[in-house]
Amino acid sequence: MAILIIFGWRVVFFTLSRGTFHCPNCGGDRAYRRRQGRNFFTLFFIPVIPLTKAGGEIVECDSCKGRWHPGVLDVPTTAQLAQMPGMLLRMAIAQVLRSGDYTDAASRSRAVAVVQQAGVAGYDDAALNADLARPFGEVRADMAHAAASLAPEARENILRAAAEIALTDGPLSVAEEETLAAVGADLQLTRVQVTGVVSMARQSSGQ
Ligand SMILES: [Zn+2]
Repeated sequence: MAILIIFGWRVVFFTLSRGTFHCPNCGGDRAYRRRQGRNFFTLFFIPVIPLTKAGGEIVECDSCKGRWHPGVLDVPTTAQLAQMPGMLLRMAIAQVLRSGDYTDAASRSRAVAVVQQAGVAGYDDAALNADLARPFGEVRADMAHAAASLAPEARENILRAAAEIALTDGPLSVAEEETLAAVGADLQLTRVQVTGVVSMARQSSGQ
């Protein structure tokens, strides 16, 4: 009697991590699994011996099962995008406040109110202090990364809010002007855009 042994190989995927991403196929936030394929030697269709890695890591959408290069995770999710203007506004305001008199009560309460209006629930004086205490370089790197995904009008509005807060305690000092220029650059605005936004803020505050 002959025994038929069926053998072969197939790719088995292992999950490395899970999270939420913006699925290009579904067009929205979906759960994903980051996976790595591995070739297996199979016996009677059952993978028994692991062989080499099969290709690079992939990101698989839980909903549509679409598979993508891990670079897809760099695209912000809708939830992250919704928080981005508020987050950028906090950072822009903190940078500008730091360059002037950040103990000025009127500037501080205005800063807290503007951030709350932008939808950052529970933003208060303590949160402002925490923002003011963040390392300069860290804030700049965060801003540059976040700014890339916002429309120019949204970035101009953020700079304008920061400029108006800087103007609360009187005309802009040289340090405040320099900081607004730096924040504008971090928000990926041109010099012309920055000058325009700052002059509009001056007009509306009567300085
Ligand atoms: Zn999908």
